Amino acid sequence: MVTRFAPSPTGRLHIGHGWSALRAMDFARARGGAFRLRIEDIDGTRSRPEHVEGIVEDLRWIGVEWDGEIAFQSARLAHYDAALARLQDMRLLYPCFCTRADIAASASAPHGPEGPIYPGTCRGLSKDQQARRVAAGQTHAWRIDMARAVERAGALRWQASSLECGDTQWVEAKPLLAGDVVLARKDAPASYHLSCTLDDAAMGVTHVLRGDDLRAATDIHRLIQALLDLPSPIYIHHPLLVGPDGRRLAKRDGSIALADLRAQGVDPKRLADDLRHARFPIGISLASA
Ligand code: GLU
Repeated sequence: MVTRFAPSPTGRLHIGHGWSALRAMDFARARGGAFRLRIEDIDGTRSRPEHVEGIVEDLRWIGVEWDGEIAFQSARLAHYDAALARLQDMRLLYPCFCTRADIAASASAPHGPEGPIYPGTCRGLSKDQQARRVAAGQTHAWRIDMARAVERAGALRWQASSLECGDTQWVEAKPLLAGDVVLARKDAPASYHLSCTLDDAAMGVTHVLRGDDLRAATDIHRLIQALLDLPSPIYIHHPLLVGPDGRRLAKRDGSIALADLRAQGVDPKRLADDLRHARFPIGISLASA
């Protein structure tokens, strides 16, 4: 079995990342499996090479050791292109020229588990209309026509398990709730949903451990697996760490960064041991499910 930790290099890691990475590593080690590290570095606007070094340093400091080479998404762009081409051949993708502001301004935009659902503005554009916009220099993303994709894939389920007990249960996937999500962005060669799903399969990941906040994403990943004939791993969504205000820790809030703890002279072995026993620094706790 294989688990992985897949950070995006958009900042230094905080204590919640450290906890998640330790859990994924321990889970694999306890079962004689492998633990891999993947850097999700294809977000050209937010990814920074210096954060990759920082992440590696933070993980090593807290005692996280991965098997094999680090996998970089930036080295796999041809695979994402090939998958997009297959989905295009199935007529499941369409170019979307909308800006974020266009979507936010659409009065009808309902909210799904992942934010506003795309109202479908560009779904009905004719080939001519699309060509005219491209000729006018408008850039576009590629969205999946979710209704069509679901019709093609049929009913889907994914297997869920938990950190505490090895039992698995089937969960019905409801990708329609997310609407026509983006699979290739205007500013990135593939969206998180596509690259993550393809990479988990390519790396032979059998157990995906990640935060509860990505539960709805799993429905979309299951659909992509079905469309592209990829195996479906077992998913373990763990609770997130929250701060004193009850809000999840986020890199942008400067929530207890591992680098800061290190600078304060914290003993990393002791910290890792505390995290493994769910003893967190004052004010930090696990969100209740
Ligand atoms: N790069 C994603 C993140 O940092 C990974 C999510 C996942 O584990 O699938 O949120």
